Amino acid sequence: MHFSDLGLDAGLLRTLAEEGYAAPTPIQAQAIPLVLAGRDLLAAAQTGTGKTAAFALPLLQRLAASPAAARRPRALVLVPTRELAAQVAEAMRVYGRHLALRVGEVYGGVGMQPQVERFRRGLDVVVATPGRLLDHLAQRTVDLSAIGILVLDEADRMLDMGFIRDIRKLLDALPARRQNLLFSATFSDEIRALAQGLLRDPASIEV
Ligand code: AMP
Repeated sequence: MHFSDLGLDAGLLRTLAEEGYAAPTPIQAQAIPLVLAGRDLLAAAQTGTGKTAAFALPLLQRLAASPAAARRPRALVLVPTRELAAQVAEAMRVYGRHLALRVGEVYGGVGMQPQVERFRRGLDVVVATPGRLLDHLAQRTVDLSAIGILVLDEADRMLDMGFIRDIRKLLDALPARRQNLLFSATFSDEIRALAQGLLRDPASIEV
């Protein structure tokens, strides 16, 4: 199995070669074609399985293939911690370096203003912790009306950290028509309920 068999374009294949990724991991092999096809996804995956690239690569390709929405972000990745936000955003900047896409992160514990400036300059992808993104929404410093792809990464940890109400408020601010990807290491009743309400005819994958 090679990345080129999964439907990825030249710009991403070039980056993967430069990064020394020889072959897709099992979750990447399963997820990439499904996400490229526009499917919703329920994925059981631990850290270290290559799950970030499993959603980031097809997400970036879909954005690169569709028109920008001026300065409004078109994809939203929700993560539980600031460390993960920084890490996922950095990985997406690496994967997307041959594509003309802007990726930025927002998280709590630091000033709002630099993040406000970043939104003002324009982003295609926002990687965010739920609480801080909700602060931006409340202050109208972010416009989520063009979000067409939503990723919940480490959804179980977000629920453990008490983010469910913030997540539900954010979901209410998103367009109804969108692609949803939910990644979680574990599946509690709470995760299943969230998935049930969020995902439309999802493909399920497990590694
Ligand atoms: P993750 O599970 O997303 O945290 O990724 C774990 C690590 O594996 C990261 O450092 C990635 O850069 C690396 N990685 C992801 N996919 C591949 C791949 N197909 N080949 C080699 N390394 C990879």
